[in-house]
Amino acid sequence: MVTRNSQENPQTRCDLCGSSDHHLILDRGRFNTPLQVVTCKRCGLVYLTYDRSPEELERFYRNEYRKQYGHMVAMPGWKLQSKQDQAERRWSALQAYVPKCCHLLEIGCAEGSFAAIAQAHGCVVSAVEVEPALARHAQSLGVMVYVGMFEDMRFPLHTFDVAVCFHILEHTSSPTAFLHRVHQALCSDGLLIIEVPDLMHPYGPLSHYFQLPHSYYFTEVTLMLLLRKVGFSPCHSELVQDKDRRIVARKTGGNPELGFAKVGDDWRAIYNHLHSYQDSYVPPSPRLQELGHRGIKRLFGAHYGNKIIDKLIKIKRWITQKK
Ligand SMILES: [Zn+2]
Repeated sequence: MVTRNSQENPQTRCDLCGSSDHHLILDRGRFNTPLQVVTCKRCGLVYLTYDRSPEELERFYRNEYRKQYGHMVAMPGWKLQSKQDQAERRWSALQAYVPKCCHLLEIGCAEGSFAAIAQAHGCVVSAVEVEPALARHAQSLGVMVYVGMFEDMRFPLHTFDVAVCFHILEHTSSPTAFLHRVHQALCSDGLLIIEVPDLMHPYGPLSHYFQLPHSYYFTEVTLMLLLRKVGFSPCHSELVQDKDRRIVARKTGGNPELGFAKVGDDWRAIYNHLHSYQDSYVPPSPRLQELGHRGIKRLFGAHYGNKIIDKLIKIKRWITQKK
């Protein structure tokens, strides 16, 4: 279990606007881990107030993350199928933005389903994945995968037509620095496709939702603002499966002088929204079995639904063994 004293190396400056003025939202996260989840009083960005070195991050994602957070260490068949289905849904929603035969970079390709589909449709794909077992799986699908952290890769500048990162930005130690590097890797007027959990649509109780691996929690407003600061012009935004924010943005020039206090989120509205969500949250019913796997995923979304299904399978197996 990775734990961290939140007083150690406190990250007191907001990565989006630079302010150090923040308000506490919650002090416990998943697995009852002590966390300081705060919202910036200037721009509304929600983040954890501690810093992790790039070396610590790499060690964690290479060795611990998938074990602790239950993401496909053994990769059961139904989970792999669910990842494949998700990749196909993403491709059919996004292919209109992806030019034919383009150079596409996927950062954090996991098991490689999306990268393999893009490649099958004629894209020249390069991918990055820090977790070796997942990278090997992606390589077995024929994808060119660089194993390690994107921040450590030395890609030639201005090379890629499209950069894709699904659920990566919230894990980075500095979203601004990460997006600067993506910006550099893209050719002029290159396209960024990005997906993160949408803070305004949390899944599960907040004590489950907030977690050590997610250092940043974006709303549509703060994600758009970050993109504009770094030099992307958003051209499409949608809520996916009632929990994730997907944005497509074109590379332009950066604007670090945005009026963050005026165009950001109101931190009081964020605070009140999260606490009213927490107060009205109803735990899953013990009669979930009756819904079936499809019904559960439809009701809770793929991410949380798959976790519930995983638990139900374990309970069923335990009951069978007892008989
Ligand atoms: Zn801020």
